[in-house]
Amino acid sequence: MTFSGVRHGQENKGSSLIAFQQRFATEQACIVHLAALRWPDGYNCQKCGGDKAYQLKVEPRVFMCSRCNFQESVTAGTLLHRTKLPLVK
Ligand SMILES: [Zn+2]
Repeated sequence: MTFSGVRHGQENKGSSLIAFQQRFATEQACIVHLAALRWPDGYNCQKCGGDKAYQLKVEPRVFMCSRCNFQESVTAGTLLHRTKLPLVK
C-alpha cells in the first residue's frame, strides 16, 4: 500500500462547497446530515453534557441545549461556517 502522505479532506473549498450544496435536496436534509456528523452518537452538549437539543425555528442550523440553553450551529467549524449562502441553492 502506498497511501502514506495522502490526506483526505483537503479539497479545494469552493468546489467542495458546490458539491456539498448539490448533494442535498433541502436545507433541512443538509442540516440533519451535519448534525449526524457533529453528534454521531446523538446530541451531546459541550457545556453541560446534556443529550437533548432543540432546533431553533428562526435559525434551523442552530441547536439549543434543552438543559442549559447553549446554542451551537451545525456549521460551526465546517467549511460552511462563514458562508452567507443558503446551504441549498
Ligand atoms: Zn447544555
